Amino acid sequence: MPLRSLYSRLPSVDRLLAHPLVERIIDRHGSAALTEAVRQTLDEARRHIRDHQALPAWADDEQLIRLASKKVSARQHLKMRPVYNLTGTVLHTNLGRAPMAEQAIAAVEAAMREAVTLEYDVDDAGRGHRDNAVSELLREITGAEAACVVNNNAAAVLILLSTVAAGREVIVSRGELVEIGGAFRMPDVMRQAGCKLVEVGATNRTHLRDYEQAITDDTALLMKVHTSNYSIEGFTHSVSENELATLARARGLPVATDLGSGALTDLAAWGLPAEPMPQKMIADGIDLITFSGDKLLGGPQAGLIIGRKAWIDKIQKHPLKRALRCDKMTLAALEATLRLYLQPDRLAEDLPTLRRLTRAQDAIRATAERLLPALAAFAGAEYQLESAPCLSQIGSGSLPVDRLPSWGIAIAPLDGRGGTLEKLAERLRRRPSPVIGRLNDGKLWLDMRCMEDEDGLLRNLRDTD
Ligand SMILES: *Cc1c(COP(=O)(O)O)cnc(C)c1O
Repeated sequence: MPLRSLYSRLPSVDRLLAHPLVERIIDRHGSAALTEAVRQTLDEARRHIRDHQALPAWADDEQLIRLASKKVSARQHLKMRPVYNLTGTVLHTNLGRAPMAEQAIAAVEAAMREAVTLEYDVDDAGRGHRDNAVSELLREITGAEAACVVNNNAAAVLILLSTVAAGREVIVSRGELVEIGGAFRMPDVMRQAGCKLVEVGATNRTHLRDYEQAITDDTALLMKVHTSNYSIEGFTHSVSENELATLARARGLPVATDLGSGALTDLAAWGLPAEPMPQKMIADGIDLITFSGDKLLGGPQAGLIIGRKAWIDKIQKHPLKRALRCDKMTLAALEATLRLYLQPDRLAEDLPTLRRLTRAQDAIRATAERLLPALAAFAGAEYQLESAPCLSQIGSGSLPVDRLPSWGIAIAPLDGRGGTLEKLAERLRRRPSPVIGRLNDGKLWLDMRCMEDEDGLLRNLRDTD
């Protein structure tokens, strides 16, 4: 049959759009989107005819409409979607760090749907400050005089340095010039803030006299940075916050510390690796402390600055504050998360980050063993699966050397059956909710520490999409 007559057997766009099946699709997606999808589908049919000199098997009206309908609905599928984080890293930056508490989710939902008292003071029907609710809670929890909130901790460090030390010198130990993932390097942030970085000490050892000798008339700030993602071991010395605060006070200078994670609850009391606490830094006399909202605190992405009221007031007035301020959703989530800290007995249940970090190895093992058969069925005969102990990480700039005893499923390809770990990892990633494990030691590990919705995972493995 000549090509021209093959082409002419395809229906027109108008004929397809007049089909009775179409009404429901238009109700849901609108006619503009469907028309475009119908055009694309007909283009594909024409390409098929050109390449194969034959009509495609799916060239009848109904199938063409179904294909077009699939296209329009696929365009509404969200690219950012929930995943099963079985990587063993609890606070995984690429996977969105802390999952929110139900209380925070409810607060955000309410704040999104309607007008809220973001900058409105109910007591005197006047203008309030958007940081008020969070700042009050931070003061109560940490004992700080004042607090302010910006978009993330990198922003907190930037605005702190810009406010306190622009055009002047900031003294930092050489052992603390950290790089956090994603191009956050202390020397670069200093430059951005217009500060002159004065490095003191050596990589492994810095003494109080090093700071002391570096102080000049141009010094604006002494600063400590928590070396969250690496550790210097062996012949080392660093100056404690307490000592540095004493020196700063004697010389009439402020002192700041960037804690990175900054746990508001004592992790050691939960049997976890100890992490410096903002409230301890306040007690040690540090003037300004910065930390993240979405690391160990377990809330939304945010940067928190707590400390002396005089400095916080200055930061609030800095032009950068307007650029770096948080929106109502972040503030709603953060306030609700901080309120959980007022009920410390319930914290390990209500705060998902702490709940997952403190989950007992036995409980994790039980999950692994319940899920093993379904995962084995999913993997198929090319793979061998076993339930086995493993180690999780806290993640997000907590010490990578601190590991938490956990339990997982280790998957290896059986010899000669054609399965590869990459193939299986890809099939797991292609589920409606991607299932993300970790390749280690020639095996694909699914660490079950963060696996809380077992029924959801079972459905997710079964679903055909
Ligand atoms: C994580 C971290 C930061 C950056 O915090 P974000 O909230 O990710 O912007 C800065 N400093 C330290 C020490 C950190 O650990």
